[in-house]
Amino acid sequence: MGFTPMIQQYLKVKADYQDCFLFFRLGDFYEMFFEDAKKAALELEITLTSRDGGGEERIPMCGVPYHSAENYIKALIEKGYKVAICEQVEDPKVAKGVVKREVVQLITPGTVMEGNMLDDKENNYLAAVTQTTEHQFAFAYTDMSTGETFVMDIKRGWDAVLSELYNRPIKEIVVEQSLSENYVSELTDKMQLTVSYAKEIKLPDDMQLLVENVEDRNLKQTCLTLYNYLFHTQKRAIEHLKKAQVIELEEYMTLDMYSKRNLEITASLMRKEKFGSLLWVIDRTVTAMGARKLKKWLERPLLTQSLIEKRLDLVTGFYDQFFEREEIREALQSIYDMERLSGRVSFGNVNARDLIQLKRSLAKIPTIKEQLKQFDNEAVKGLAEGIDGLPPLFDLLDQAIAEDPPISIMDGKILKDGYNKSLDEYRHASTNGKHWIAELEQKEKAETNIKSLKIGFNRVFGYYIEVTRPNLPLIPEGRYQRKQTLTNAERFITEELKEKETLILEAEEKSVDLEYQLFLEIREKVKDFIPSLQRLADIISEIDVLQSFATVSEENNYVKPMFTTDDRVYLEESRHPVVEKVMKDEFVPNTIDLSEDKHLLLITGPNMSGKSTFMRQLALTVIMAQIGCFVPAKKAEIAIVDQIFTRIGAADDLVSGQSTFMVEMLEANHAIQHATKDSLILLDEIGRGTSTYDGMALAQAIIEYIHDHIKAKTLFSTHYHELTSLEDHLPAMKNIHVRAEEIEGKVVFLHQIHDGAADESYGIHVAQLAGLPDPLINRANVILSQLESMTKEKPQTDKKKEEQALAMEQMAFFAQEQPTKKQESRENQAIFNTIKQWNLLDMT
Ligand code: ADP
Repeated sequence: MGFTPMIQQYLKVKADYQDCFLFFRLGDFYEMFFEDAKKAALELEITLTSRDGGGEERIPMCGVPYHSAENYIKALIEKGYKVAICEQVEDPKVAKGVVKREVVQLITPGTVMEGNMLDDKENNYLAAVTQTTEHQFAFAYTDMSTGETFVMDIKRGWDAVLSELYNRPIKEIVVEQSLSENYVSELTDKMQLTVSYAKEIKLPDDMQLLVENVEDRNLKQTCLTLYNYLFHTQKRAIEHLKKAQVIELEEYMTLDMYSKRNLEITASLMRKEKFGSLLWVIDRTVTAMGARKLKKWLERPLLTQSLIEKRLDLVTGFYDQFFEREEIREALQSIYDMERLSGRVSFGNVNARDLIQLKRSLAKIPTIKEQLKQFDNEAVKGLAEGIDGLPPLFDLLDQAIAEDPPISIMDGKILKDGYNKSLDEYRHASTNGKHWIAELEQKEKAETNIKSLKIGFNRVFGYYIEVTRPNLPLIPEGRYQRKQTLTNAERFITEELKEKETLILEAEEKSVDLEYQLFLEIREKVKDFIPSLQRLADIISEIDVLQSFATVSEENNYVKPMFTTDDRVYLEESRHPVVEKVMKDEFVPNTIDLSEDKHLLLITGPNMSGKSTFMRQLALTVIMAQIGCFVPAKKAEIAIVDQIFTRIGAADDLVSGQSTFMVEMLEANHAIQHATKDSLILLDEIGRGTSTYDGMALAQAIIEYIHDHIKAKTLFSTHYHELTSLEDHLPAMKNIHVRAEEIEGKVVFLHQIHDGAADESYGIHVAQLAGLPDPLINRANVILSQLESMTKEKPQTDKKKEEQALAMEQMAFFAQEQPTKKQESRENQAIFNTIKQWNLLDMT
């Protein structure tokens, strides 16, 4: 026995949407069948039932009501699934056989538009990646809700693609069938993305225009892959998309995935949320558009001095005038998310309330322009020039849309009187009719002498005259026709009442229909303003970010950074922007000075004394300066940093299945392969993950390599005290240390950075304070001095010899593989390969 025609129709549609939940419209429900039903029942915790579908066995089925589907869809999307909405596309009443059904929209994690599925302050991106050569990828991402698309050529291999994905609100990525399986599994497992495959679709011509600016063939193709996919999911033209913008990665500071994570730029390490990140401290934006833009700026610090200074100048303007700035902040509060609204206008899902909010936002624009002109700073004044408050759009909305419209656009009451003549006439007819009825009530009361007589209305019977039971004898003969009997009353109609009723209802129906038509027309007119609205949104969000920088700079006592030409970074009394905010005690400021002559600082000192805080605060300060914000210091001179590399803190699950040491080596290698003299490298306790000699040897070799070959600004913290003697023959290296003091018999961390190496016997000192017996302490001191005299011979002046010895040590380490531990041996081999790439023996 075959399936019923409806199930056959279902299977045919489902065949095209294998990777989605198919929501199949049946009356007031979306139903799911077969495997979809089983899976959805589990994921959504709804009841699994079954139905006879003509086959041998009953078909598993479950469903969600049409009117509450949005929440179920949201739940599935948040879990990374895709949902295909299959609607009835003909009226069931006129359908011959099975009602025709089609998929009208595909909702996927990267393409949701529905308001309650989006986070206001976050973009929601769909990305696409294509491999162009072995180490090169074309990468693009787009936010359908805001209409922006970025595309770039990534030349540093797959890891750089992961860095672009990392911590960016990308939910879904479109790839070619040919992308390697390893990469695909990294996208799904490591990056937790929904992976979709590219679709070959004929794009409408105007969507092809979006890639006009993109010259490179590969980049163009990748953008088109994105747009194809969008078109495939939305099944309609998408008019609010802006032209794709090519990002030249070389124009921005490079922050690899490790640095983004270690420095906690937009999310904290432990909890992976905004709280505790740099973004958390500096975000004082008041609009959702501003919050999104701030995050974008933070993700791509600038390299061009003039552009940074332009931002800093504007921030200074806002910084200098507190009252004017507060006024701007207040005005911005009533600015609606015009950027996302443009998207919804283009999709046809804005209602009258959205338009009223848009109108109120536009009403504020002239105020904001005036307020900007109140600033002394010329650049801030100049911002006013760039703002077009769109008076024609304001006028249209002001004349048309009622002040307090209902959410529904189908039930009338959304347009103002006076906007349209016919609408006024219908409304007039209906109001007149209602007056007439009110008068009729008085007239009938008087004529019949029934005080409680009243005229009512319901949807089934229309207008009626209601008379309570005791008064029934008083009703006039003949004129009243009985319509309905209630327990205590009877309802009647009269000829003239019915005539008026027809007039009123007709007028009302026509007025509601006309309002709906007029509203659609208004919406079309608003569409024409989309590009101008997007420009307005752009400048408003920029003002918001600039005022946010000024506000946070003033509140937290930041200083405007200067840019040096002599390649020096000098931060006087620098602080850590986040630690100082979360600490109960006073944060102890420290001065950081890095120059061409002394570009490598070796930091020693006990655990918990503040070494990694010191390192991180340098990186965060540089980032803040290069996005155009003031910085936490008394004085700041900065040489522009092209890239930041970090190896700080505990490894987390990012590179799962690998030892801490392997992660350490991968991160160090990454820095060594890519850093330039303009880069900043932060290496915290490198070598800790392996045996002492190994670790120390590697640490020393890394220091020397950076010192001799890369010359990048580097902070290197270590507990290998022996390394401090490198200062003697590495002229650009300098020792600094954090000291702990003994105050009233207790060890106290003062968190102060001093020149020179830390006191080596510090550990023994702590042990003494802890009360360990004197003979034991004495013995420890003796052992220490023996060890010291052994290692004193260590840093050899004859470098060549030393390098060979070092390499031998490495070999010995790798030769010690234990055959029983396969995993470990493979890992060691990988580490060995990594180190081989560094070419230790070639270092001179
Ligand atoms: P280390 O890297 O030396 O082990 P951390 O940098 O992790 O130490 O700092 C340990 C703790 O000390 C931090 O969590 C912070 O609370 C505190 N701390 C660090 N630097 C300072 C400072 N400059 N002023 C005040 N407290 C600090």
